[in-house]
Amino acid sequence: MTPGSGGHQPPAGARGRGPLPTLNAGAGPGLLLVRTIGNWLNLSTPAGLAVAALGGARIRRGGRGVWLAEGYRYRFPTGGAFTIGTVITTARPSFADLDRRIPGVLEHEEAHTWQYTYACGLFYLPVYAALMGWSWLRTGDRASANFFERQAGLAAGGYVEAPRRDVRDGMRAACALMRARSGTLSRVAGRRCACADGTRGADGGA
Ligand SMILES: [Zn+2]
Repeated sequence: MTPGSGGHQPPAGARGRGPLPTLNAGAGPGLLLVRTIGNWLNLSTPAGLAVAALGGARIRRGGRGVWLAEGYRYRFPTGGAFTIGTVITTARPSFADLDRRIPGVLEHEEAHTWQYTYACGLFYLPVYAALMGWSWLRTGDRASANFFERQAGLAAGGYVEAPRRDVRDGMRAACALMRARSGTLSRVAGRRCACADGTRGADGGA
């Protein structure tokens, strides 16, 4: 996955390559075939094609067994692009447009396709979500300490490495966030209850 257009741009010359982009470059036809067949059999590629089609994306072959889907219309999953199986999808009109903002983004996304192969398909998704949570706890950022994103190359994905923080600090930040959100929900619920009772809410006006 990559951040959206508002995501961080790494400084020039700081674009690192994770180990899987290196595998992208060196993979021969046999290894690519293993990935293609593996991701069809583990159902991640059919799932990726279905998600892209449901999102109204235009799907085309991208070479090396990868499918490219452009013009995805929903806001979830968020980000500049996301990968399911060997299907790479973006909400942008074209990958050329995305690549102008995040050069090398397809190399990063193709790295994720290998992760579906070795993670046995859709098992990848809950593991990715857990790693994203761990990364947020450690850095306040969903990618910086996420093993899958680091393996795909943080800089190539448009991410900037965030400094680590103590897990206890992360837990405190998570608690503060949950308290803030529950407070917001309580205020919204309070207003709705007040209206239901026929009384004025906090912002009830005249
Ligand atoms: Zn990514």
